[in-house]
Amino acid sequence: MDTILSKRLQMVADFIPKKSKLLDVGSDHAYLPIALVEAGHIDAAIAGEVVKGPFESAQKNIAASGLDQQIEARLASGLAATTLEDGITAISICGMGGRLIAEILEAGKDKLEAVETLTLQPNNREDDLRRWLRDNDFRIQAEQILEENGKYYEIIQAVHGSAFLSALDCRFGPFLLKEKSPIFIAKWQRELDKLQYALSCVPEDNQLDRSAISQKIKTIEEMIS
Ligand code: SAM
Repeated sequence: MDTILSKRLQMVADFIPKKSKLLDVGSDHAYLPIALVEAGHIDAAIAGEVVKGPFESAQKNIAASGLDQQIEARLASGLAATTLEDGITAISICGMGGRLIAEILEAGKDKLEAVETLTLQPNNREDDLRRWLRDNDFRIQAEQILEENGKYYEIIQAVHGSAFLSALDCRFGPFLLKEKSPIFIAKWQRELDKLQYALSCVPEDNQLDRSAISQKIKTIEEMIS
């Protein structure tokens, strides 16, 4: 049976290097590892999940796929789902806030040395995650932005190494900013609309808040112009 992924998870799947040994953190249904192994894209994976219900659902789906020799579900928080002996070469962490993803990476730092590629899909606070990557000697090597069901998602792929990232790069994404795709423009136009509405609600005598919002508006306008 071929597992059909959502557009978001399919784009994440396309980022996972072929033949990786993957740890998917927060693998509630194990859809990503199952689809990748079914497609012959990777040979083996660990589906890590910290909550019992989703973990059981991952276990059930792995059993139903007949791939329990290649994929193992483990009940654990973050990178505690693996040991160095597992030989993990790629990690995916998707569908969580950027700060939580950074916290998971920070807590599992000792496991990251042997890992070649991180594929991360934060649902928000992408800037915090990019800052963590920069400050911990990870270099962003690719990014993608997509829209699905009215939501915008960013995918970040990072490898060991260092690269300069400005505050604007952290906020908008170095590759996304360079490309300025129509989806990128639409995401930030929506943000701009929200900020303009927020500004219209702030009384004229509250200059502190007005100027903070106006500054954000100005930055976004400059980025999408
Ligand atoms: N990764 C899937 C995706 O992108 O569709 C599932 C996203 S779901 C919104 C987030 C999952 O991450 C939940 O099942 C949650 O229990 C799990 N999770 C949150 N913190 C975690 C942690 N520290 N370690 C492992 N799993 C975690």
